[in-house]
Amino acid sequence: MNKAFDGPTGTALNLAWHNEFAGLGEPFYTRLAPTPLPSAYWVARSDKVARLLGLEPAWADSDASLQALTGNRFIDGTDPLASVYSGHQFGVWAGQLGDGRAILLGETGAGLEVQLKGSGATPYSRMGDGRAVLRSSIREFLASEAMYGLGIPTSRALCITGSDAPVRRETVETAAVVTRVAPSFIRFGHFEHFSSREQYDDLRTLADYVIRRYYPACASSEKFAGNPYANLLEAVSERTAVMVAAWQAVGFCHGVMNTDNMSILGLTIDYGPFQFLDGFDPAHICNHSDNQGRYAYNKQPNVAYWNLFCLGQALLPLIGEQELAIAALESYKAVFPAQLEDRMRSKLGLLEARDEDRQLIDATLRLLASEQVDYTIFWRRLSRYVADGATPAAAVPVRDLFIDRAAFDAWLLQYSQRIEAQDAAAAGLSMLATNPKFILRNHLGEEAIQRAKLKDFSGVHTLLRLLDNPFDEHAGFEAQAGFPPDWARSIEISCSS
Ligand code: AMP
Ligand code: MG
Repeated sequence: MNKAFDGPTGTALNLAWHNEFAGLGEPFYTRLAPTPLPSAYWVARSDKVARLLGLEPAWADSDASLQALTGNRFIDGTDPLASVYSGHQFGVWAGQLGDGRAILLGETGAGLEVQLKGSGATPYSRMGDGRAVLRSSIREFLASEAMYGLGIPTSRALCITGSDAPVRRETVETAAVVTRVAPSFIRFGHFEHFSSREQYDDLRTLADYVIRRYYPACASSEKFAGNPYANLLEAVSERTAVMVAAWQAVGFCHGVMNTDNMSILGLTIDYGPFQFLDGFDPAHICNHSDNQGRYAYNKQPNVAYWNLFCLGQALLPLIGEQELAIAALESYKAVFPAQLEDRMRSKLGLLEARDEDRQLIDATLRLLASEQVDYTIFWRRLSRYVADGATPAAAVPVRDLFIDRAAFDAWLLQYSQRIEAQDAAAAGLSMLATNPKFILRNHLGEEAIQRAKLKDFSGVHTLLRLLDNPFDEHAGFEAQAGFPPDWARSIEISCSS
């Protein structure tokens, strides 16, 4: 280890560890240990992720777990490291970045990598302190689990531990560590790193590793026969298309779609200034630091393609011919619209596809955008309307969302005609399982954060429970499913985390 660990070591968590990423060798990472934090305490834990990892129930009561996941205790069998990557940030080549505050402990028997985020400085911290604040850690933890609950590809989060150690951002806040989990945290930026340095042997080692472990079909796929790297680019393009279509359908804005925040597995990762839309404003910019609106909600699909293009460029030395790379990227252009249309069709409860559906989907989104109607509440009320038999009386709560009633009535006529011949009960049930009642709205996160700063973590726990099953009714929690308060508009979420 390059950085010696000055704390206790031993067993914790009782997991079987290995670290295949470490087998890639020195150019890919620096071995080092987390930096301890004083006065560790639990903030929140996910039982679901604990089960996924195969943790025994006692893990949550164990001080050894708490200390280990705060970076205060070295876990025997782990091989902690920080990996190096580069990337394009806001459309500009940023050069070397890397895990500046995340440390990979290793991989568990379940084939999942476990990272501590906020666990101290690494050789890739640049000007940063290697820490994460409680505020952003709560947002990442809840967002990971909320996205999973919504069925959207994402990294997961096992827990947050907190510390009273001060961390300087715009104001002085306190430190926290998120334990996050994914099959791999490899990013587009890992490939860009080795390609930009013309380290093509390392680039090939990385690509072969990713293919062997995560995309085995690419080794022998007939699409680009004999070119596993073109196959890989195509497969990543498809997975990215699936992910972004899911974002658009649920109204999720990532906020910082830099190439170093793009997972090679098509998972949503690196939750920072993200936001779930309140009112439907297609041009919404959730990141207060994004002055140009590069990552506005409606720009996400094109940005994802731009990022894939960077990945294609990085893989070009392995793929060989530019035409093949371009052809591999084409899959994004085919898969994204098809996926989005499927998802929107489900949101509308259209049980079978028809050619004219595209028109109805566009009309619906135009209607929502014209008054910036609350995106989640609209879909949930529409689901209820259909489930209740699509009668005129059942339409009242949906109609109430609109000021221009004539515009709504015209749309409803078109919609009703389309669903007339369907089994309303079946369509309604499917809509209620597609259109969530609960999303992680900025103001809900903010309220939980304010209480957590006073060491009351119950708001975080309640949100976790609701967001774990966002399609359930959760009687008694209507406030969390309601409209955002006026002050929600004044919340400014920036890259500061
Ligand atoms: P992000 O866009 O937040 O995912 O981070 C971009 C880069 O900055 C990554 O290399 C991060 O590891 C690094 N970074 C962000 N915040 C910090 C911090 N507080 N200390 C060290 N590195 C950081
Ligand atoms: Mg990042």
